Amino acid sequence: MASAKDPVCGMTVESDRAAGSAEFEGTTYYFCSGGCRASFVADPRKYIRQR
Ligand SMILES: [Zn+2]
Repeated sequence: MASAKDPVCGMTVESDRAAGSAEFEGTTYYFCSGGCRASFVADPRKYIRQR
């Protein structure tokens, strides 16, 4: 397992406890909730740009 940062809300999420994940441009992102995942999938670049 590994810690990952939810790019939508900024929360730290354990990859094996994440509510969902999505791959974008070769990187897998993990999310605390289905709502965060849906927001990311709708417009990934909006969230990645903030990193
Ligand atoms: Zn979140």
